Amino acid sequence: MNSMKSRIHKSLIGMGAITMVVTAVICVISLSGAYIHHVQQDMEVMADILCDDYEQDHDTNLERFSEYNMRITLISPLGDVLYESDANADVMDNHLERPEVIEALEGGTGDAHRESMTLSMDTYYYARLLEDGNILRVSLETESIFSLYTGVFWGLFGVGCLIVLVSVVISALLTRKMMEPVETMAKQLDHVGELSLYKELKPLSEALTSYQKRTSELEKVRQEFTANVSHELKTPLTTISGYAEMMENGMVKDKDVPGCAEKIHKEAGRMLTLIGDILELSRLDEPEMVKDLRPVNLYQVALRCIESAELLAKKHEVNLSLQGESRLVWGEEGMLEELVANLCDNGIRYNKPQGKVTITIREDPKTRGTILEVADTGIGIPEEHQRRIFERFYRVDKGRSRETGGTGLGLAIVKHIVSQHGAQIQMKSALGEGTCISVLFPALPEGIDPENQ
Ligand code: ATP
Ligand code: MG
Repeated sequence: MNSMKSRIHKSLIGMGAITMVVTAVICVISLSGAYIHHVQQDMEVMADILCDDYEQDHDTNLERFSEYNMRITLISPLGDVLYESDANADVMDNHLERPEVIEALEGGTGDAHRESMTLSMDTYYYARLLEDGNILRVSLETESIFSLYTGVFWGLFGVGCLIVLVSVVISALLTRKMMEPVETMAKQLDHVGELSLYKELKPLSEALTSYQKRTSELEKVRQEFTANVSHELKTPLTTISGYAEMMENGMVKDKDVPGCAEKIHKEAGRMLTLIGDILELSRLDEPEMVKDLRPVNLYQVALRCIESAELLAKKHEVNLSLQGESRLVWGEEGMLEELVANLCDNGIRYNKPQGKVTITIREDPKTRGTILEVADTGIGIPEEHQRRIFERFYRVDKGRSRETGGTGLGLAIVKHIVSQHGAQIQMKSALGEGTCISVLFPALPEGIDPENQ
């Protein structure tokens, strides 16, 4: 895998190298330009002086120009060399084709620059058209720019190497400095929230912190759940094991055997209910649970629940009644039955003798959805417990609930069913007066005709 450090390091070195090369090229170009410009200016000044001298005297003997310490050539309009300070003019070939001469004949002045064979010397020419039609040309031979640079090449190369070396060291230091917060973060994952990091790393550290928090909360919930399940299973199992042991040792008289068996049966039944509830909860917990949703008549569902709760209601001396109208909700019949049954069951169990449980199905005028209301005249829920009763295994009065066979999973299942149906749940309760739990189901999806169901 690519290391971030080496990438930053390489980028910094690359940037340094590019900067160095670009600077060197710009320097060479502008220095060469300045040098040539300087040479040409010198020659123009020289030519000015010579021309003035020539035109004032009109002396055809130009030998006196030799003292100027420069190569001077006088060329006729036909290209013949009339005078040449450095060589014998007679042996020189026709100069009409030379670029500086052509230019001077056309525009009055001309210049040119030619490299010598060895590349080590450059010759600059400057020619000017005189009043009498002749052309005066001065030339200057200098060391070529190329050879000037080769002279300092090793010096420049040395400086370049030094710069590269320094930039490698600096970039290594910079990289380390830049990467420090990232490395600190990786090392101290448990305290990322407390570190002062780059602004850009903040979202990452926040996401990490919240992830850690969520994971530890989940872990806690899981541990609590396991502890609760084990505890809830242990209680009936201890009873069952106790009775069975007594029977095994012949400590139970024949006439007491049916009573013992009934107790074992009851406890085993409790365990089965508990396991069923846990399985149901884990099924409802799955985010991608397969649901068989269709329009369900909630009134009919409530009616069936009341019928099956009749026996329990009689036992608790509670009166059950159903009010309201037939209404369709978009849901799964089995889940809805479980929801109503659980609420109805609580209404009966946590009631007083001669109490009432009233189920009402009606339309919500605001959303046109359906409201299911289960109201009882029971013992009510103390304010401080109201927030928590939807938690798994949470019971207000542990003794009473267990006595009646409750495990504290009923409302947790209700809450899950409610959310699987996109519904909302509300609870109102007054201690000693009663409790009313209402569930608001959303209106049926568009295009479903309630009359035809
Ligand atoms: P389960 O429903 O699994 O058999 P449970 O009835 O104890 O057991 P929940 O239905 O989740 O569990 O209820 C949690 C607790 O909330 C109950 O133990 C009870 O203390 C309280 N509670 C629930 N409904 C009512 C009610 N209608 N009136 C008074 N208290 C209630
Ligand atoms: Mg219950």
